[in-house]
Amino acid sequence: MPELPEVETVVRGLRAALPGRTITGLRLGKTDFIADVARLEAAVPGSTIEEVRRFGKFIGVRMASPHGTNGGRPTNWLLVHLGMTGRFVVCLAGSPAPPHTHVWLTLDDARELRYTDIRRFGKMRLLDDGELPAFLGRLGTEPLEVTFENFSAAISRRAMIKALLLDQRVFRGLGNIYTDESLWRARIHPRRVGSNLKPAERRVLYAAIRRVLADAIRLRGSSISDFVDSAGSPGEYQRRHRAYGREAEPCYRCGAKIRRIIVAGRSSYFCPKCQRGPRGRARPPRRG
Ligand SMILES: [Zn+2]
Repeated sequence: MPELPEVETVVRGLRAALPGRTITGLRLGKTDFIADVARLEAAVPGSTIEEVRRFGKFIGVRMASPHGTNGGRPTNWLLVHLGMTGRFVVCLAGSPAPPHTHVWLTLDDARELRYTDIRRFGKMRLLDDGELPAFLGRLGTEPLEVTFENFSAAISRRAMIKALLLDQRVFRGLGNIYTDESLWRARIHPRRVGSNLKPAERRVLYAAIRRVLADAIRLRGSSISDFVDSAGSPGEYQRRHRAYGREAEPCYRCGAKIRRIIVAGRSSYFCPKCQRGPRGRARPPRRG
């Protein structure tokens, strides 16, 4: 599933290609992942793209509509969540579209912006400028922008640290890969209780998250299943994974075998020697 670094990679690619372009046409296939299809059809064609931004795991494409919706506000945000298998790719208009392409946005420069999603767990919706703050208010803070003080306060709860990091209402953009990688680097067991982490551990975790995300963005994300950037190219960060997906492989630090357990309903990879469990020693792996 695309997480913050993958979405940031897509956004950077789109930012290089889209601002200034006018959307001359919209074609839709399956629409069950789109909220308010009629609104999209009414407001998007003829719009000029102004900006592309990332909000957690959402891609936001700001566009000036020639005929505003919702009380005549002229600026809309197309918000796209890639779900599990979503791809948002700019390509030449008329080039063969892969199966499961459901949205075609025709641009005024002989290219198309296409949304392809095999499993359709993605989401797409249009909001105007006035609706965006309420939408963003439901998401947590950006892990790359949060201060250490606010980070420390946010994890001071009686919940497992991995669950806290995954909760999009606490931090937006972290998912299974980058929480496991950050916890491995910080030597913190995923089942530790957030409020029990010592100040020094919080510092190390805060720095580890920033480091992991920055490195992953630099390497254009992780291509585990089928992530590609806005030009259709895979990322490279999966080669740097130290915990995620490495069950029974040796820890890069100590050589112990990486284990997989279920935490917060998700597979969690950790080193039983470097990342001591909540009672001071690692718990045996659970089935799941
Ligand atoms: Zn280790």
